[in-house]
Amino acid sequence: MRLSERIYLVGGGTLGFGISHELDCHVYLIDGSGGMVLIDSGAGVTIEPIIRNIQRDGLDLRRLKNVLLTHAHADHAGAAFEWRKRFGAVVAASKEAAEYVRNGDEEKISLAVAKRGGFYPKDYAFHACPVERVLAEGDRFKFGDLELEVIETPGHCSGMLSFVLKEQGQRVLFDGDTVFHDGKLLITNVWDCDLQEYVGSIQKLAALKVDALLPGHLTVSLSQGARHIQKAWDTLQGLAVPPNII
Ligand SMILES: [Zn+2]
Repeated sequence: MRLSERIYLVGGGTLGFGISHELDCHVYLIDGSGGMVLIDSGAGVTIEPIIRNIQRDGLDLRRLKNVLLTHAHADHAGAAFEWRKRFGAVVAASKEAAEYVRNGDEEKISLAVAKRGGFYPKDYAFHACPVERVLAEGDRFKFGDLELEVIETPGHCSGMLSFVLKEQGQRVLFDGDTVFHDGKLLITNVWDCDLQEYVGSIQKLAALKVDALLPGHLTVSLSQGARHIQKAWDTLQGLAVPPNII
């Protein structure tokens, strides 16, 4: 599903547009002159629907170079292993997420509690995956004529990254599970969800005044994306906590 000149939505499950496996987060593809990059991988139960979507969009998977993970939760990082194995994609993540994904640590990525909470089937298995590149605040991830700026946005979990792409004068924010449409958040009862860190990340993202907001679930905003982030920030400044998406 083409969203803009260079950006495609190629995956998303029941908390999205239902275009790939039900557990998948939104999977975005950015088509740069130096190859294609995926933002998040999906859950990895099957990547076939995502592959079909990419092919239907007329894109050549031999040009897939990287998978950038916003964070290590299974719906975002569970398929990194498959993209790497089948297409040779180099996987990149924050220092924390890289450690969890390399070790396939089901406690650190809160998969064990998410299974108990009914969000994943009991037989779902997370595939550990080598992460070749570690990204941190201020890094610039270049691929051909395009560049992503890396922003650390912890709060939903540790090691969360957001990415800003400049495309035709527009600033596009990929913010994983940080802020969603209508200023909603994703605060959950897991070990590394931290409200004060979350607040700091919302403040940081609100200051960016982005044009497009492309989160990890629910709908996307191709213009005036900043209004959703501002709504969350306004609520937090009033000492309240914005509503959750679940
Ligand atoms: Zn998450």
